[in-house]
Amino acid sequence: MPELRYDILSGTYTVIASERAKRPNEFRSAQECKGPVPEIDPGCPFCTGNEGMTPPEIYALRDAGQENEPGWRVRIVPNKFPALRPVEHSETSEVDSAKAASKHLPDVDDTSMYWCMPGIGAHEVVIESNRHNGTPGTYTIEQMAEILETLKQRYRILYDEKHIRYVQIFRNWGPEGGASLLHPHFQIIGLPFVPPEVSMEISRFREYESKTGRCVMCDYIERETEKNVRIAAKNDEFIALCPFASKYSFETLVVPRKHSVTFSELDHEKARQLADILISVFRGYEDMFSSLSHNMVFHTLPPPKRLRKHSTDHWHIHVYPRLNVEAGLEKGAAVWINPTPPELAAVQFSEKG
Ligand SMILES: [Zn+2]
Ligand SMILES: [Zn+2]
Ligand SMILES: [Zn+2]
Repeated sequence: MPELRYDILSGTYTVIASERAKRPNEFRSAQECKGPVPEIDPGCPFCTGNEGMTPPEIYALRDAGQENEPGWRVRIVPNKFPALRPVEHSETSEVDSAKAASKHLPDVDDTSMYWCMPGIGAHEVVIESNRHNGTPGTYTIEQMAEILETLKQRYRILYDEKHIRYVQIFRNWGPEGGASLLHPHFQIIGLPFVPPEVSMEISRFREYESKTGRCVMCDYIERETEKNVRIAAKNDEFIALCPFASKYSFETLVVPRKHSVTFSELDHEKARQLADILISVFRGYEDMFSSLSHNMVFHTLPPPKRLRKHSTDHWHIHVYPRLNVEAGLEKGAAVWINPTPPELAAVQFSEKG
């Protein structure tokens, strides 16, 4: 019997279609081996030696060399084809007036019907490894922690821009994940508004807190730890769960085990612990699938200095493997069909991870 499950964080429903339960080897596209990936690809703009193929770097962690030269371990560059671009000083008033207009929408006229504003913000690429074939499952804890601390640093700096209201950190990999380049990288987009997906989640946190006085994520991970049937990995500071109402096969949710409002609270020790969990989750993925398209997204409020009043949230990372196709029910009704029960996914992680 299929089971309809409700996701307390997003307020959406998923059909867990357990009678057609799919194991890793049944997802053919994610098992297609496209041959070994070289450590350096001469045509790749993110590879060492090709620094001139990207816009000049914003920041880099280096063992040697000068700016925009080889010798880096992690390198941040502006996106060559940005979805949103930084604001120029001359444009400030235009942006401000567009923002002001958005706050005072007249009842019904062309302004509200066709409201828009300049596409300002930021779009950066964090080239996480100098190896073209680097994968999170093969990184050392030091290497992964360094990537996470670099992401945190940029997230904080981007919030210094007054036009940026939300910073989205994400990682696409593989064709179904929307990645145009094979070289492993994160992206950071600064948006001039808080996106609906995030404000929806925040309102769920608020609603739960107003009813119970507690944090929904703290309660959720406490129950999941007790039940112990959907845990993919855990250490002292972090837990990786296969969520109860997972939308995607082998989806995971990585969460600090102690209440933590924003990603900016990640210190060096916690970065190492998070690195340890992510490496273990990705080792699991890499053992199960030879080529797994996925999206990894961070959900976190701004650092404390940008938080206005009491803010309810508990930051976390979603990893969405792109094994299932989003079809009519997903698009039309935001109801998901997942052929892999999360309990089965968790068992595979503990066997493979
Ligand atoms: Zn490359
Ligand atoms: Zn919490
Ligand atoms: Zn979330």
